[in-house]
Amino acid sequence: MNKSELQQHDREHLLHPFTDFNDLGQQGTRVITRAEGAYITDIDGTRLLDGMSGLWCCNLGYSRKEISDAIYQQLNTLPFYNSFFQCTTVPSIELADALAEVTPAHMNNVFFTGSGSEANDTNLRLIRRFWDLQDKAEKRIVISRKNGYHGSTIAGASLGGMSGMHKQFQPLDYIEHVQQPYWFAEGGDMSPEEFGIQAARSLDEKIQELGPEKVAAFIAEPIQGAGGVVIPPETYWPEVKKVLEQYDILLVMDEVIFGFGRTGEWFGADYYGIKPDLMTFAKAVTNGYFPLGGTMVSDRVAEVIKSKGGEFTHGYTYSAHPAACMAGLATINILRNEKIIENVRDVTGPYLAKRWAELAEHPIVGEARSLGMVGALELVKDKGSRARFDDDCTAGSVCRDLSIKHGLVMRAVGDAMVIAPPLIITTEQVDELVEKAHRALDDTAKALA
Ligand code: PMP
Repeated sequence: MNKSELQQHDREHLLHPFTDFNDLGQQGTRVITRAEGAYITDIDGTRLLDGMSGLWCCNLGYSRKEISDAIYQQLNTLPFYNSFFQCTTVPSIELADALAEVTPAHMNNVFFTGSGSEANDTNLRLIRRFWDLQDKAEKRIVISRKNGYHGSTIAGASLGGMSGMHKQFQPLDYIEHVQQPYWFAEGGDMSPEEFGIQAARSLDEKIQELGPEKVAAFIAEPIQGAGGVVIPPETYWPEVKKVLEQYDILLVMDEVIFGFGRTGEWFGADYYGIKPDLMTFAKAVTNGYFPLGGTMVSDRVAEVIKSKGGEFTHGYTYSAHPAACMAGLATINILRNEKIIENVRDVTGPYLAKRWAELAEHPIVGEARSLGMVGALELVKDKGSRARFDDDCTAGSVCRDLSIKHGLVMRAVGDAMVIAPPLIITTEQVDELVEKAHRALDDTAKALA
């Protein structure tokens, strides 16, 4: 099929995720056919620097044959077996071991799933089981944050704080949402530090309003990814930690985006020095090469679930899929052997921080923030008042399309332009990224003038 035939068939038969089908029908899809290193290529032969690592998942880029070979070999040896009914497989044991090593020291058990959403469903099941087994059945409510993202299943989307998603289904009624620590959008006249404390206090207030004895857990991304790379003020996490400890509420860190090196540490929990009770992962665990997710379970929770007896009635066909586990092992080996995360922490992360910060000088950029290998630019009409171009936040999509014209994939979250390049990006490629982003900003300013 040629390009237009492919687009026609796509229109006729494929329902894309998070897509307005009318818009897509008019514009047509971009057909991506190849990828190497940090670049993707479309059917016209146009090569783009992938500033988003696929969908925040290909942290090692697209050319790691060790991972595809590991999958291939596993598929030719034992393509599938389940881990139900007293069965196990060698890859699942080896990956569980490796995860216990690279995750925080107090986390030594894993429950495997096929995706991040399924892992957050698993978290809800584990949380309830944990409290039930300790005769605290009244602890039922899970607190989450507005504009957080935790997946697209009913549980994931209920935990998430995306109002556009909530409008399209009936969210679970035992999930409550509190303020997010998004200083640029909501901090007003407060300093980031003051605002961080205030956002954490809103959690405290919510707990008191609901009754601490009824609150089972708090779930949050270390940094909100899909919400626009919202890096919390430094005061936020220490204060949240205090609040949760005070009321004996479990902490679930959703590390689906930040796990496996994006902050320059293995996990966001390491970066912030926090000890979560449960930790969701997916995406980069297999470098995006094979679907796999899971939740790391702390010793405190695992002790209760394992020793207090009875069946934990939960699991998926693809929990611990052997080929996925081999992909995970190969990915972790590369991250370790090539010191990829250390390089982000010591070399490319600081370099990106320096170059990305230069974009704050651009007339339509209200803030340029970054950490490790993520960044965001806030597009504004007026820097002083942080006023947006329009209420519908269309500047972001204008800038995204212009960025693609300049050969760079950035994502628009409202009027925040977001990047999460592969961790293997070189300093020269960081220069290329920043220069392309700069040109996209220039064109956006012209287009919106
Ligand atoms: N949690 C977070 C923080 C995510 O960013 C995502 C996906 N972007 C998910 C959960 C859901 O993962 P999946 O799409 O694999 O279900």
